[in-house]
Amino acid sequence: MLDAFAGRLTNQLLTRLPGPSITVKTDMPVVSFTFDDVPETALSAGAAILEAHGGRGTFYIAAGLLGRQEEQRKLISADGCAELAARGHELGCHTFSHKSLQHSGRAALRADLDRNGAALAAIVPGLRPRNFAFPYNAGAFRHRAELSRRFRSARGGMSGINRGVTDRSFLRSFGLQQPEASVAALQGKIDELVAAPGWLIFFGHDLAPRPTPYGCTAESFETLVAYARAKGCALLTVDQALDRFEAQP
Ligand SMILES: [Zn+2]
Repeated sequence: MLDAFAGRLTNQLLTRLPGPSITVKTDMPVVSFTFDDVPETALSAGAAILEAHGGRGTFYIAAGLLGRQEEQRKLISADGCAELAARGHELGCHTFSHKSLQHSGRAALRADLDRNGAALAAIVPGLRPRNFAFPYNAGAFRHRAELSRRFRSARGGMSGINRGVTDRSFLRSFGLQQPEASVAALQGKIDELVAAPGWLIFFGHDLAPRPTPYGCTAESFETLVAYARAKGCALLTVDQALDRFEAQP
């Protein structure tokens, strides 16, 4: 309870005192579909759906979870990560240990990020993850400088569409999580994006017939991807989207 309160307070503080910025200025609405952790179904269903609609996604890997069998989901394997990269998807960093940064010291975080980077480089030679997502979407003010030094962006816990001057160390996003009705309602966010173009980021976990509380069905996911495409949105990885915004004069 106290943890949740402290987390909300930190997220508010990060929003009020923004870090390094990027200007999101675009005529074409941009949508990034991202996955955290990452469950196997994000590859078997999620990547395939994105590809069928001409897009690619960003998969934030916590290498300490690779291959783990949990009660309701199985996590992706090293081979699965290699396959994602080979198919043109982005592998981002989600820490190695998947602990909240609010409880990490500086040295421990640095070691953890090094460990995740080394694990990913062992899977995809030469890979250096360029973008980060906070475990549990819990931002941590004191780690912002370290994260900004290592990564182009960090995705955090505030909801919203990124537009105009945007804090790249705390990107806003919306979760693809239960109940299914709330996933379906996210079509409204795509409508808002199309009306006033910017950068809309979604984050999901498993895509399963009976999803965990943090996941949704593959059908709901595909409906959302197809809707974004039909409305003329570009479906870009986080790294591709940053390339596009940085190229703006
Ligand atoms: Zn996570």
